[in-house]
Amino acid sequence: MSRPQLVWLKRDLRMRDHAPLCAAAERGPILVAYVYEPDQLDAPTHDASHLNFIRESLAELERQLVARGARLTLLRGLLPDAFERLHARVGFEAIWSHEETGHARSYARDERVKTWCRGRGIAWHEIPQHGVVRRLGSRDGWAARWTRTMRRPLLPEPERLEDALGAPDVEHVGLLGPADLGLTPSGRTEVQRGGETQAQETLDSFLAGRSVSYRTDMSSPLSAWNGCSRLSPHLAYGTISIREVAQRSAARREELKEMRARGEDLPATWLSSLASFEKRLRWHCHFIQKLEDEPALEFRNMARACDGLREDEWSEERFEAWKQGRTGYPMVDACMRALEATGWINFRMRAMLVSFASYHLWLHWPRVAEHLARLFLDFEAGIHFSQVQMQSGTTGINAVRIYSPVKQVIDQDPRGEFIRRWVPELAPVPVAYLPEPYKMPLDEAARLGCRIGRDYPRPIVENTKAMREARERLSALRRGGEARQESRAVYEKHGSRRRPPPRRRARS
Ligand SMILES: Cc1cc2nc3c(=O)[nH]c(=O)nc-3n(C[C@H](O)[C@H](O)[C@H](O)COP(=O)(O)OP(=O)(O)OC[C@H]3O[C@@H](n4cnc5c(N)ncnc54)[C@H](O)[C@@H]3O)c2cc1C
Repeated sequence: MSRPQLVWLKRDLRMRDHAPLCAAAERGPILVAYVYEPDQLDAPTHDASHLNFIRESLAELERQLVARGARLTLLRGLLPDAFERLHARVGFEAIWSHEETGHARSYARDERVKTWCRGRGIAWHEIPQHGVVRRLGSRDGWAARWTRTMRRPLLPEPERLEDALGAPDVEHVGLLGPADLGLTPSGRTEVQRGGETQAQETLDSFLAGRSVSYRTDMSSPLSAWNGCSRLSPHLAYGTISIREVAQRSAARREELKEMRARGEDLPATWLSSLASFEKRLRWHCHFIQKLEDEPALEFRNMARACDGLREDEWSEERFEAWKQGRTGYPMVDACMRALEATGWINFRMRAMLVSFASYHLWLHWPRVAEHLARLFLDFEAGIHFSQVQMQSGTTGINAVRIYSPVKQVIDQDPRGEFIRRWVPELAPVPVAYLPEPYKMPLDEAARLGCRIGRDYPRPIVENTKAMREARERLSALRRGGEARQESRAVYEKHGSRRRPPPRRRARS
């Protein structure tokens, strides 16, 4: 008789296109387990809202497993101890899971599990779930490899599963929420919900119509709310596979092309919007690959020439003002408060928040990254740390982009709708003053009942001066020979390219 196989669920909470589940089910009876791990739940990047999303996703998965004859075993404890206890009861032969590129704590946990498996003679099969490549030798040709991976056929859901337990495990703790695990409950008001059905519906509605003007909608926090796919938490917790998203988008593009060929009147932006969306799916893996190749990016500057740039100038007061959405810059404050309430904001506004913290407030990025990680429902370590470093100018390879929070109001919220919604104390302020409310004449401010310095903060720093000084400091650093030399090495390791960099091509 074949021995039980353990399917260890991590950030892959789905039935469709689930390679470890399919491979384990082919070999014999299965145990499907998810473990609530205190050391992971306690990570500084973790938030109760993440746990709520996981709980909703697990609840749906449990129903789907039961309908197919299996069950979901929910364990609580450190790993590998929880596996040791499970193994004592059901001597499973192998563990099946997806590869994970997570933060240092999850990496350390995986190392412990690996050692335990070796000691017990248990095989641990890890299968890639994205286009991220373990032990990648070189970035050359990475994009073409990604495309091939995305084109592989999707795996069907197993129809019947053979349950290895027969009865609920004694250690089964059931679905847990923040209160059960001693986490401060989430105060979010408009948060996305977890589960495979939600993921499928989100993709369906995006491809059916929301994507029409994705390319232009993505910039403003107002239009991005519906105009972006909103798949990020689903990709982060694996309630849908990125391969399925990529394939369905490509299929929809083909369908639209055929409709156009038949003479149907389609908005001109649609096809290019979907192409742009698919490019971003590749970025998802491109950024995670950076952390996979260099896990230290979570803690230290990608370009070591930037060491010492900001570390010694930390200001708790500035950090608190930024966190609380009280910087005196309406767009920064509105985005921070929106994020707090909803767990999501569009790319440009994420970039602006980090740019403001880094350049205007001159805050070193790690605590900035941690705070945002807790706020983002879609926290994905590889994308997050790489993007935060990129927006704070510490990668050494990307152009320095300093966002003016004043210009962003004019460009992205010209009627002030977003700001008025999230910073209600500015509701009576005329549109002309919303980019810089402190420029309002005192008598007008008094008449409107919004005095700057009393009802809404004065600007924490002067915008143009802060941007100029930051640019000068960064340029001085980048001009140095050491920084230039290092940036070539960073590009070689992490740069996005289809072909080898020019210098190496010339040599070969
Ligand atoms: C400072 C900063 C931190 C970020 N942290 C995260 C994070 O923790 N998790 C996360 O998923 N995204 C992160 N992003 C990238 C991006 O902002 C989000 O992926 C996007 O806003 C999510 O919304 P969406 O699913 O509607 O995106 P869409 O625009 O619909 O894109 C579809 C998918 O493509 C991927 N994607 C899109 N843009 C990017 C990008 N610039 N880089 C990498 N992948 C991208 C995501 O997986 C996204 O879900 C960060 C960006 C910045 C500037």
